[in-house]
Amino acid sequence: MKSLKAQGHILSDTRQQLKILDHNDMIPFQQKLGSIRLFPLKPKGIEIFQVNIGKMCNQTCRHCHVDAGPDRKEIMTRDTMQQCMDVLKLYPQMKIVDITGGAPEMNPDFRWFVEEIKKHDRHIMVRCNLTIILANQKYYNLPQFYKQHGIELISSLPFYTQDRTDRQRGNGVFEDSIKVLQLLNNEGYGIEGSGLVLNLVYNPAGAFLPPAQQALQKEYKQRLKEKYGILFNELYTITNMPINRYLDYLINSGNYERYMDKLIAAFNPAAAQNVMCRNTISVGWDGYLYDCDFNQMLELKVDCPAKHITQFDTSTLNKRSIIIGQHCYGCTAGSGSSCGGATA
Ligand code: SF4
Ligand code: SF4
Repeated sequence: MKSLKAQGHILSDTRQQLKILDHNDMIPFQQKLGSIRLFPLKPKGIEIFQVNIGKMCNQTCRHCHVDAGPDRKEIMTRDTMQQCMDVLKLYPQMKIVDITGGAPEMNPDFRWFVEEIKKHDRHIMVRCNLTIILANQKYYNLPQFYKQHGIELISSLPFYTQDRTDRQRGNGVFEDSIKVLQLLNNEGYGIEGSGLVLNLVYNPAGAFLPPAQQALQKEYKQRLKEKYGILFNELYTITNMPINRYLDYLINSGNYERYMDKLIAAFNPAAAQNVMCRNTISVGWDGYLYDCDFNQMLELKVDCPAKHITQFDTSTLNKRSIIIGQHCYGCTAGSGSSCGGATA
């Protein structure tokens, strides 16, 4: 399967995606926020510095909001990583660095970047898709590298069964993911008292909202332990965002309007208070700044003069209004959704 970009798909033009999201008779997200006095949406400060170091990935998952894949060549250069480091040194209040992709490990400067960040004593989270560790010999020692640097791992496992995982992420992904989870457990990841955190991510296989996070976590823990002896820390349930390949899926399957109606009907004011853009800044592979990873994928740069990492300035960024749109309903439905799971 190719990325939308490699297919020359009409949705690879983000303006087309925004046109679809905006042109309907659904209640504007802005109006919903206004009804709970949250518009304009303002940041509370920047605690999490999320860096997307490239769109290249060894997988081409059907629901990918990044439109990542082996055919994507956009990756962050070491110069841009250095600019990120310069910013981190200036702002110690940004205690958490969240490294994402694509498969971030495919960036040849990934390990250098991690080591540099560690010198400045920040907590690092890496969004590791698991299978990358078996994709090539050069990645086989990643579990030891992660352990050495105390990296927190956040890894997608859309379900605890093979059929549902492979349908969404590709043939053989479940089997490889299980092998890698066992390897990580052997290193101490997910084991109580080790201090090595391994969190898993669930996202729905179709056009529906995730179930309750706590109940599903219990189910995952039971099933993965019984069948494969696997342990992990927390399960994050994440709502699929109606952008990129998931938007393509919704339209092709005739589910788009029904799904948007579901998201809107499930609008939760408590989740809206806690949307992740209020305490996170997202850096793109080319150094541009975004309110979140989703706005990044829709190419909606922050609405303030500090648009690039070279212009980073928290006082300017903290005064900005966050750019919102109909896709934001994905963050506020039900128990809410963020890179760290449910928010309400
Ligand atoms: S969902 Fe993750 S693993 Fe799958 S293609 Fe996208 S970035 Fe890669
Ligand atoms: S999509 Fe981004 S900007 Fe919109 S509510 Fe979610 S985190 Fe905030």
